[in-house]
Amino acid sequence: MPDDLRVLILGGTAEARHLADALAAEAPHVRVTTSLAGRVTNPGTPAAGDVRVGGFGGPDALAAWLRAHRIDVLVDATHPFAATISTHAARAVAASATDLFALRRPGWPAHPQDRRHPARSLADAAARLPALGTRVFLTTGRQGLAAFAGPELDGLHFVVRTVEPPEPPLPRSTHILLDRGPYTVEGERALLLEHRVDVLVTKDSGGSATAAKLTAARELGLPVVMVERPPAPEGVPHVPDVRTALARLGLSPDAADTCP
Ligand code: NAP
Repeated sequence: MPDDLRVLILGGTAEARHLADALAAEAPHVRVTTSLAGRVTNPGTPAAGDVRVGGFGGPDALAAWLRAHRIDVLVDATHPFAATISTHAARAVAASATDLFALRRPGWPAHPQDRRHPARSLADAAARLPALGTRVFLTTGRQGLAAFAGPELDGLHFVVRTVEPPEPPLPRSTHILLDRGPYTVEGERALLLEHRVDVLVTKDSGGSATAAKLTAARELGLPVVMVERPPAPEGVPHVPDVRTALARLGLSPDAADTCP
């Protein structure tokens, strides 16, 4: 590994923050920059390393940024549903010396007692709802809610939980909850009961911070419409967690344990 490795982390996830903090704490020879899209007003920024905010302007502009900043390794640690930036990352390094790998947490494993209904997209999830329930807990994020706003779902009530206020169009009957995980099973159970939810819709985001809703839904016997992940760009190696990412960067995986 070179003495002054330059790493750009495409962030927006807890794993990206954790990796940046571990690198800064344990690998002073690594110069780490985290890139954020700039969508949320109060992003969880890493405690260490440089941070840049905003889109690059497409794959060619990202490639130019990587060259200008002499980046050795690009780590795509974006959310599994952030498909555009992942594709741009793959294209940006295609004709360059920059190494690229993805840090992508695994999806949620199915439990035998789950009542899972896989959906290919938000539109597919919306189409499945009338057969499953009338009071929906919708946790797919603030983007793409127009898929649930059509007149065919006017008879359904939606409890929509997002970090930032969602933008219209929204379903006709919508109750918005602004919150940010991590969540507990007790809290999620109470929420499902309070709002008399009879079906949950979620993306297969994976990770522990927002998994409690699945346990609570299972315990209450509720169906879960699970939106499947978009395909990842072909040929990009990926690791499942920060420890493996550190190992891939030539560092001890134990460096992951030194950060909160
Ligand atoms: P996206 O559709 O894949 O990306 C759209 C555009 O946003 C990209 O083309 C890029 O603009 C810019 N962008 C995205 N991530 C960026 C980053 N880390 N740094 C700089 N520019 C970035 O992304 P998205 O689904 O809107 O998600 C935006 C961000 O929120 C991601 O970083 C992701 O990690 C985070 N996030 C997403 C979700 C989700 O469900 N999608 C959930 C939690 C967090 P240019 O083409 O101009 O470079």
